[in-house]
Amino acid sequence: MKILAIGSHPDDVEIGCGGSLIKHRALKHSVKVLVLTGGGRGGDGDDEDDLVLTRFQEAKNAADLMDVDIDFFDYADTEIPGTHDVIARIEELVAEFKPDRVYIPFEQDSHQDHRNTSRVAKAACRKVKQILEYEEPSSYSTFNANFWIDITPHIEKKLEAIKLHVSQGHKEILKAKSIEGLNLYRGYQSHVQYAEGFSTFRYLE
Ligand SMILES: [Zn+2]
Repeated sequence: MKILAIGSHPDDVEIGCGGSLIKHRALKHSVKVLVLTGGGRGGDGDDEDDLVLTRFQEAKNAADLMDVDIDFFDYADTEIPGTHDVIARIEELVAEFKPDRVYIPFEQDSHQDHRNTSRVAKAACRKVKQILEYEEPSSYSTFNANFWIDITPHIEKKLEAIKLHVSQGHKEILKAKSIEGLNLYRGYQSHVQYAEGFSTFRYLE
């Protein structure tokens, strides 16, 4: 099975579906992560260009830990366009990699980058059989999990991958045990210890 996970910023994919990606690798599936920006505005007053370089490296470290491939596009943080340009670039990657399943951000989200990433990904991946939307701390309360993946054996590695985004350590959401708590809650919903919850945009077997 071939898996593509798309995130707006370094760390989105780890938060939303990192455990599932680690599980795919344990099952010997081929996994590629695509990050659309360098996350230059996710700092605590840092210089934007320096931060992009730091965050690329952090994302590479996390990808190495999860044992997945990673590609970056060069859009500016907070300015991902919802235009043909970005759709065409993702289409090209999809045509080459031919994923069976794509993980994308949930479209209803307070961050415009997450909303645009979700929209362009749906357009670019219109022929992909399985499109699952992952949840993030900025997802609206309309997120309703209807698909769960048991990540119990992989929760430690997922949390470790998030911690590798050292530059984001100032964010409460990553400091607190929020992500672990969320996965515990999704696990409770699905009667396992830890799970990631998804909203299915399309799921064709
Ligand atoms: Zn993000």
